[in-house]
Amino acid sequence: MTGTGATPASTAATTAVAGAGGPVALAPYAAHDATSRGRRHCEAAPEYRGEFQRDRDRIIHSNAFRRLVYKTQVFVNHEGDLYRTRITHSLEVSQIARTIARALGLHETLTEAICLAHDLGHTPFGHAGQDALNECMREYGGFEHNLQSLRVVDELEERYAGFPGLNLTFETREGILKHCSIQNARKLGDVGERFIKREQPGLEAQLANLADEIAYNNHDVDDGLRAAMIQTDDLLQVTLFAREYQAVTDKYPDATLRRRIHETIRRMIDRVVQDVIRTTSANLQAAAPRSIDDIRHHGSRMILMSDELRREHLELKNFLREHVYRHYRVLRMTTKARRVIHELFEVLMKDISLLPAEHHDAARRAEARDGTHGRARVVADYIAGMTDRYALLEHRRLFYPEARS
Ligand code: MG
Repeated sequence: MTGTGATPASTAATTAVAGAGGPVALAPYAAHDATSRGRRHCEAAPEYRGEFQRDRDRIIHSNAFRRLVYKTQVFVNHEGDLYRTRITHSLEVSQIARTIARALGLHETLTEAICLAHDLGHTPFGHAGQDALNECMREYGGFEHNLQSLRVVDELEERYAGFPGLNLTFETREGILKHCSIQNARKLGDVGERFIKREQPGLEAQLANLADEIAYNNHDVDDGLRAAMIQTDDLLQVTLFAREYQAVTDKYPDATLRRRIHETIRRMIDRVVQDVIRTTSANLQAAAPRSIDDIRHHGSRMILMSDELRREHLELKNFLREHVYRHYRVLRMTTKARRVIHELFEVLMKDISLLPAEHHDAARRAEARDGTHGRARVVADYIAGMTDRYALLEHRRLFYPEARS
């Protein structure tokens, strides 16, 4: 290491103290406001905020962010008030990632911006909605929520007179685009390049990606128990849960089940977070990167869990797939959601004059420019932007004569 002579390990040690609430010194391999690769459209530097702070603020003020309140994570919004929605999920991802970012000397605000934006392109009804829309768009370039998140911040938000979208920095956009086919990467310019060159994104982006996984694997245990799709006894076959649950029950035998479960999940998250900090610190120490470009050119991801914890996390993930995501009540809702998306797409694609005026105009313009593909993309944008309840309402308005149009 150069500069201050700090090593990643000593950075982590220093920030463990600073992490109590004070400012954290950025590590040399973190993203820095001053060396950002900049925005697509030229803008003066913000006067009182950093560049990534401005990104984070723009995301919070966007329409797409507010819509996350009414979008499904696993449970459709009207199923209960306590289940995670896309917005509470995004906040939990951000919380987990920020803790790790501070401990590693990464840019906390950039990390937060990426986490808050990572699901902006999600359709209504969670993955069922995305799969259905992708099927509808098969002949027109497909639909992928991750690409759509980038499209939302680059093109679809209409908040500034001088440019389309939110005009975010390269680093935030790089973090939003988690994965991408080579074919799509070629159309995306600068943020697509790393997929072609097989490079890594910055550590803040890598972190947001991993925190997403940590958040949903843990909160889906909580939501699955709340929905009574799984029972505590079933979860005892999952190492990560069983270990903490046993420790909690030994220490607090008289606590209510609810408190013991929440204490267990809290500890599960804590264990993973600590493991990621330790494992990543060791990776950073071994590779000794001196800049974000060293991170980008490194052959593999550096923000990782240890092998042992990754295995345990995978076990939990498989358990959730089997017992929660494939539960008949989730599958019933999934089937209904697919039908709604397919029918909406079909009817609007066939006759764009049924679209609300602004979308109708956009569809006509896109069709004049790009033919049927353009028309399909505008219909997909319209559907992807819907909340769960708006999609159900629009479906009723289009298919049921007694509903008001
Ligand atoms: Mg997510």
